[in-house]
Amino acid sequence: MAAPFKLVSRLALVTGGGSGIGRAVCQRFAKDGASVVVADISEDSASETLRTLSHDQQGQEHAALCVDVSSRQSVEQLITLIQRQYFRPPCVCVSSAGITLDEFLLKLEEEAFDRVLRVNLKGSFLLTQAVSKALVASGSSKGVIINVGSIVGKVGNLGQANYAASKAGVEGLTKSAAKELGRFGIRCNTVLPGFIATPMTAKVPEKVLDKFEGMVPLGRLGEPADVADVCSFLASDESRYITGASIEVTGGLFMG
Ligand code: NAP
Repeated sequence: MAAPFKLVSRLALVTGGGSGIGRAVCQRFAKDGASVVVADISEDSASETLRTLSHDQQGQEHAALCVDVSSRQSVEQLITLIQRQYFRPPCVCVSSAGITLDEFLLKLEEEAFDRVLRVNLKGSFLLTQAVSKALVASGSSKGVIINVGSIVGKVGNLGQANYAASKAGVEGLTKSAAKELGRFGIRCNTVLPGFIATPMTAKVPEKVLDKFEGMVPLGRLGEPADVADVCSFLASDESRYITGASIEVTGGLFMG
């Protein structure tokens, strides 16, 4: 059985925290006892998540902040604000901010390719770098980076050449970071969700979702909490010997 309040006294930063998987991660981390910074491009949705977070542990202090993860300046401002407010860098960082701009390869515009790469891949790079720099500078001996990739980065998908490329990149980035940052006590892992019911997948035509659902061995689409539970494990000491791993949260879709 999982330890209660296993993230007590941790400060966690979650990008894309205003919606879907990011929101569920914020809620799970708060239940685990962490102080949570909900960061999103939309201040309103970040504040909406903030209102749902529990405060069962003494000293838990949550915040909602605005960030555009594709901008170095915005990411650096975010880390500065957090350090000013909490007097320490976040020791857990989950990059869940992401977008899709789906189109078949033969019609895919260069700008749609670049935008998806800027948010999904460069955004994960900027956060991973900024948080680990701050942790190393603070002399902290422990940190956790969790980047949200996708099973699509492994197997590809129709109409998602840009998205699949960005998510394959997230895995390579995270494994490289794990190799470099292990000596500073910073563990870096990727979670690879399959099809999870969120506003992102609400844009996918129903017949496509039905087709994928029929292929899932566990017989259902995922819920954001299915991914959040794995992030909670990866953020905690229960996963202390795991780094550079990619954990599939797919109900068995596209295994092996
Ligand atoms: P979601 O509900 O759309 O949440 C993504 C959040 O990121 C939204 O609040 C979005 O804000 C925010 N965001 C977008 N661009 C941003 C930026 N530049 N800076 C900061 N925040 C930004 O999607 P989700 O399904 O929870 O996806 C979360 C992550 O899981 C993504 O990385 C996604 O690729 C990955 N994933 C999802 C699935 C799935 O089936 N849902 C599967 C595999 C992987 P706006 O809504 O205002 O744009």
